[in-house]
This record gives sequence, structure tokens and C-alpha cells, in this order.
Amino acid sequence: MSNPKAPPAGGVLFRGGTTSARHDKQRHLAREAQAAGERQVAKQRQAVAAGDAITDGGFVASRLHSLNMMDRGHPQLVLYYLNADGTTKQECVSEFFATADDTGFTLVCPRCLERGETHGLAQMKVMNSNRKFHLDTRLAGTFVELRDPDGKPLHVKICGTVTCDETIKCDSCGLWHATIIDSKVRSA
Ligand SMILES: [Zn+2]
Repeated sequence: MSNPKAPPAGGVLFRGGTTSARHDKQRHLAREAQAAGERQVAKQRQAVAAGDAITDGGFVASRLHSLNMMDRGHPQLVLYYLNADGTTKQECVSEFFATADDTGFTLVCPRCLERGETHGLAQMKVMNSNRKFHLDTRLAGTFVELRDPDGKPLHVKICGTVTCDETIKCDSCGLWHATIIDSKVRSA
């Protein structure tokens, strides 16, 4: 009785050492490619988890991060990082928080991101107790429309705008100084 799944008579898949070796090499290359692909996907997942999306200027945005935070109910700010000419280079969603005796907001250092720090380490907390700022609540409750990395609109309800009375310095890299007026972040 013949098995229909058996190779046709005389059909030899591997004719000898040479073909088999080539086949092994191909399988090896395929495995390598697959592993590389998996590493790449893992890296992308990691970047998404960390909230990093690399934009054209080498600046790393925190838009996915902000997406995650939208569900957590924290008051939000939208900070506008300006170019030297005053145009907006990048928007960044910041978390505003309050403890019993202090208030503060998160601020991402673009220099730290550019030198490859993770989003968490590039983020500092500006606390009112050591760097005076005030929250202008006239725009509290309004929505700012941003674009997520896929270009889809993302609406962020802000709790106001912030103005710092002094220059903010990144303690982590010591390289970045900025002023913040009406949520506009200008590198000093
Ligand atoms: Zn820094």
C-alpha cells in the first residue's frame, strides 16, 4: 500500500553532503534572522513601555507614556519645548502631583534623553519646595490636542499652565538649563 505523503519514488530531497550542508546553513541563517527580528520587536516593545518615541530632531517624546498616564487620573500639564526661534519643537505631557505639603510636576530633560538615558532617569520632579513655580489654573479643564506617534489625535485635559520663577537645571546631566513660562520650556 503506497503512502500518498511519501516522496515520489526516486525523489531524493537531499542528495548528499553538499546540499544538506547548504540547507543547514540556510536554516541557521533563517534562525539568526528570526532571532534578530525578535530582538528588534522586544526592543520596540521596551521603547513603547518606556514611552519613548524618537522624533526627527533626535528628541525623544513621551507621548506613549502620556497615553498610559491618561488612564491614571493624574492632573496633566502639556509642556511645549521650544526651538531657539520660539517655534514648538515638541510637546510633552507632564504629570502634576500634590502631596500634603508640596506640589510638583514632572519634567523630561531632552539632553538626558539624547545621551540615551531611559525615560524614567531623564525625568525629574520640579517641586515647589525647592524650585518656586506657580500653577495658573485659568486653562484648567481645557483639552489640548496632541498627536500620538501614529498621527492620531490625542486629547489631554490639562490642569493649567506652569511658570517657574527660576531657571531649572537638570541635576542628572548638569548640562541642561531651562526657563518655563506659561508651560513653554526654553533651553537657557
Ligand atoms: Zn539632563
